[in-house]
Amino acid sequence: MQIKSMHFVERAGRRLNDQRLQRNLTKLSTKFVTGRAVALTQLDDFEAVRDAAVERRNRSIDNLDLWLEKFEREATRRGATVLWAENAAEAGRLVVKIAEEHDVKSVVKTKSMVTEEINLNRALRRAGIRSVETDLGEYILQINGNEPPSHIIAPVVHKDKEQIADLFSRVHKRPRLTEISALAGEAREVLRAKFLAADMGVTGANFLVAETGSVALVTNEGNEGMCTLLPKVHVVVTGVEKVVPTLEDVATLMRLLPRSATGQSISNYFSLLTGIKGRAERDGARHMYFVLIDAGRTQLLGTDFQEMLRCIRCGACMNHCPVYQKVGGHAYGWVYPGPMGSVLTPNFIGLENALDLPQASTLCGECSVVCPVKIPLPGMLRKLREKQLAEGLRPWRERTALRIFRFFSVRPRLYRIAARMASSTLRRMGGRRHMISRLPGLSGWTNTRDFPVPSGKTFRDLYRATLRARGR
Ligand code: SF4
Repeated sequence: MQIKSMHFVERAGRRLNDQRLQRNLTKLSTKFVTGRAVALTQLDDFEAVRDAAVERRNRSIDNLDLWLEKFEREATRRGATVLWAENAAEAGRLVVKIAEEHDVKSVVKTKSMVTEEINLNRALRRAGIRSVETDLGEYILQINGNEPPSHIIAPVVHKDKEQIADLFSRVHKRPRLTEISALAGEAREVLRAKFLAADMGVTGANFLVAETGSVALVTNEGNEGMCTLLPKVHVVVTGVEKVVPTLEDVATLMRLLPRSATGQSISNYFSLLTGIKGRAERDGARHMYFVLIDAGRTQLLGTDFQEMLRCIRCGACMNHCPVYQKVGGHAYGWVYPGPMGSVLTPNFIGLENALDLPQASTLCGECSVVCPVKIPLPGMLRKLREKQLAEGLRPWRERTALRIFRFFSVRPRLYRIAARMASSTLRRMGGRRHMISRLPGLSGWTNTRDFPVPSGKTFRDLYRATLRARGR
């Protein structure tokens, strides 16, 4: 996927003015946010499950090398081949090589953000291999000119039914249907033939289980079954951090993943695949490969961002983020949007290539409140901002403003005088409307909304008045 994260501000601005997108994004709060809230009440003790999940993910990450070695041993013992890729390009080459070795002409894929990271469809296309996305959302995006996903679990959340109906009738050359079930039926009909013709299935992994060498896959459409049981070759492409020691770990994490993601107590489909098809088995791939990708993940170990590796890709942080809810996923310009993306993207592609992402947050803290594995996202965003400042990556105007603020904040008397002057000046500027519609240096705010005037008093004045009123 092409990196456009450096253009966040401009991309976000365009999306804020897109009324249709704004309507479509309301699904996040009406569907996912409320769904999650209800689903969590079904757990006896959500916080206890959350603590257990944190502990289990930490156990994986603290000894990542050991669990990965164990995973490799167990998967190999059951007939699979485990391959390691240091970066995206190497991962793409490995998958293409596997396809060529097995004379693969056509691939069916499940949704996988890691394959977006490595641009797998493009690599396969360049090698003359047809690759079809089979997750309904991803399929819609693929037939719409390989549009990138805008959400990690609901890739097409930015579109509405009418847009999809138009697209289907144009691409499938069939009468325009408008019912969601009919549109899904039409996609199913088209995809059925692709499943039957495919020589290779590519999936991501929700979890890799070290003790059994298995891959756990979660979907709501069952396409993971069709991708892994019908073709002769199954390739799992995933990040190294997805490994967990035991099946018990998967059971704990699965109590949180669908609930946090879509508000379901359990996903419609859950597959646990272990090794290649046995002699007595009717279904399954004859050849199974794991392509395990680092691409910046192990660099996070031992840093302020290590806890990010706990992420189970549920999407709850973006569903609840007031910034994501307004700008949608495409504004972020790479694979991972929302608060988790604003931490991962600068770490994976370089802070200088994602300058505005750590700033794309109000630091309201909601993302860490809803994160099932308690990743301190606001703290990490703050750390990235500090890094940017230390490396001189912020614009001079911002750095100057911070320097001025620092000058006053370490001189309390001067700060008090300046704050009082600023407050009363702003109050006067608001006139009778008590609103400021143009403010030099803050046009980013006043271009789209008025700035309410302050009371004319400083915080200290108000605080003192409150204390006096309470007789203290
Ligand atoms: S950071 Fe937390 S909330 Fe966000 S996707 Fe990862 S696990 Fe889910």
